[in-house]
Amino acid sequence: MKLQKKYKFWFCTGSQDLYGEECLKNVANHSRIIVEQWNQSGVFPFEIVLKPTLITNEVIRKTLNEANMDETCAGVIVWCHTFSPAKSWILGLQEYRKPLLHLHTQFNEEIPYDTIDMDFMNENQSAHGDREWGHIVTRMGIERKVVVGYWSNQVVQKKIATWMRTAIGIVESSHVRVMRVADNMRNVAVTEGDKVEAQLKFGWEVDAYPVNEIAEAVAAVSESDTNVLVEEYYDKYEILLEGREESEFRKHVAVQAQIELGFERFLEEKNYQAIVTHFGDLGALKQLPGLAIQRLMEKGYGFGAEGDWKVAGMVRIMKLMSAGMKEAKGTSMLEDYTYNLVAGKEGILQAHMLEICPSIADGPISIKCQPLSMGNREDPARLVFTSKEGMGIATSLIDLGNRFRLLVNTVECKKVEKPMPKLPVATAFWTPQPDFATGAEAWILAGGAHHTAFSYDITAEQMGDWAAAMGIEAVFIDNNTNIPNFKQDLMLGNVVFK
Ligand code: MN
Repeated sequence: MKLQKKYKFWFCTGSQDLYGEECLKNVANHSRIIVEQWNQSGVFPFEIVLKPTLITNEVIRKTLNEANMDETCAGVIVWCHTFSPAKSWILGLQEYRKPLLHLHTQFNEEIPYDTIDMDFMNENQSAHGDREWGHIVTRMGIERKVVVGYWSNQVVQKKIATWMRTAIGIVESSHVRVMRVADNMRNVAVTEGDKVEAQLKFGWEVDAYPVNEIAEAVAAVSESDTNVLVEEYYDKYEILLEGREESEFRKHVAVQAQIELGFERFLEEKNYQAIVTHFGDLGALKQLPGLAIQRLMEKGYGFGAEGDWKVAGMVRIMKLMSAGMKEAKGTSMLEDYTYNLVAGKEGILQAHMLEICPSIADGPISIKCQPLSMGNREDPARLVFTSKEGMGIATSLIDLGNRFRLLVNTVECKKVEKPMPKLPVATAFWTPQPDFATGAEAWILAGGAHHTAFSYDITAEQMGDWAAAMGIEAVFIDNNTNIPNFKQDLMLGNVVFK
């Protein structure tokens, strides 16, 4: 599956013709230098395209509409080199529909003390030009990112590069299609939600298929194709027989290989990028998809268990946002499973009955085949590993009945103190910020789910910007969280997002 498309970002410089041709020539030249240097820097995950300087209502409107229409354009970066009267932008901005970044910079880093004159002042006036522009964007209530600082500074460049990934999450959201091969687990509340509203807000298409339709696609996978994939598994992963007959073990693994191929073909043929399953509705499938789902997630598919299509959509979005990142540490669905409550060592053991993405693994990955009480099928093969250390975010998208809320908890992933040799599933272990008790209390107060979409590679700020672009509330649980303020945030959200 192709995760990273060849998106581009447009660089648009605002100006006006009040200061003459010479000034406009310099403006265009400065923007060209910025864009060239950026494209050569290796900091940006996508190409930046320089557009002609925007000085009239007509050109602004035309350019922003071209950005809308160009499928390769994932967003526009605007900087007002000189003053650009912002009424000129109203019609264009009203029609513009893609992510927007306002770069507040200046071509010169330092005031040229010895030579500065009024010509220089007029040519380099983003200090007030960008304020004029920011005013109209705020007045129009348009969501945008503002990045302030010297354009050649790497901190500034990295902020823009990170926003580009957020922009991908925003533009790609309306291309996410989730396949449900079962309904939500009976009686469970938090995995439910309004699929029509999800399409209105996020652009997600969420469709159901009878489980036996996909089971037929699995059965149609040939034995030879299956065996090739089994060999790949045997090459790539450690095989932990744990007393099983090798030939019998291999048969169990082959069931998952057939599921992986069948599911992938079915998803590709029908153009879905995320999938949900449910252990209680397996039809003709011989095993609960475990290893198969783990591998599909690693390839970039979103996944949610027990019918949890909201998590499937979020995992897909976060995989898209982190696609192609150098030194990416991984993104997965996880579930808060069990606690360590020893003082000073508090944390949450993350797992699921099978389906954790191996992208988050640290060290060797092995295949185990163990009984599973859930699902009433033969013992499923699964990948078992522990996960990386470091900071990450756990997100939960919930439906409050009249609206969605996104929770984002910054967490510190750690190693557990001792191995857990009898545990036949992949795990992660983390302590939520600001501390275990406050983090869990805030999570529960905000109505967060037990399933999460987790990533080491995406920041809370990025998910907050994504939520803002979707027009939904985001609440953050991090080192700044204290419960009285958090409750006030939730109260405020109830008023604002009614
Ligand atoms: Mn679950």
